[in-house]
Amino acid sequence: MRQHGKLEYGGHAVPQRTCVGCRVRTAKSELLRLVRVEDQVVLDLRGRLPGRGASLHPSLSCLELAERRRAFPRAFRVPGPLDVSRVRAHLEGEPRNVM
Ligand SMILES: [Zn+2]
Repeated sequence: MRQHGKLEYGGHAVPQRTCVGCRVRTAKSELLRLVRVEDQVVLDLRGRLPGRGASLHPSLSCLELAERRRAFPRAFRVPGPLDVSRVRAHLEGEPRNVM
């Protein structure tokens, strides 16, 4: 759905992001964009929400890794813990266990 969002990266380079869970760099399109709304981490499924984002593989294990290493407060530059229950519910609710 991004008809006019031209990527000016010289034509072939794919934008990459690092997953806050496993720290693997992956094409941005493979990762979920997460943003912080107050003390909650929410999914930015359309890539429209403003503010600092964090990237995560759509996988519970990456979410758990990110929680364990307190990656979200660091990514969003806030001191306190953040509620990731909405992200977790989304990942648990997705019936696409590809493994
Ligand atoms: Zn990951």
